[in-house]
Amino acid sequence: MKAFVNKNVCIFCGMCGGACPNIFFADYDSKSVALDIELTGELLVMARHAESICPVGAIVIKDVLQK
Ligand code: SF4
Repeated sequence: MKAFVNKNVCIFCGMCGGACPNIFFADYDSKSVALDIELTGELLVMARHAESICPVGAIVIKDVLQK
């Protein structure tokens, strides 16, 4: 599983980075971006939490085989 941020939707509120700074961080374009890593265990739990608190639904967590 990997996390993705839809930059067309992200309003850069900072909530994902605040809740899960080891996966989500600010990109050069003042949008959030997710680290390109396979998420398992505690990291996956944290990413799902960030997904749940994003106010605009910009975070998607999906199996990387489902492109
Ligand atoms: S929580 Fe959502 S809207 Fe806020 S910075 Fe993260 S991806 Fe963007």
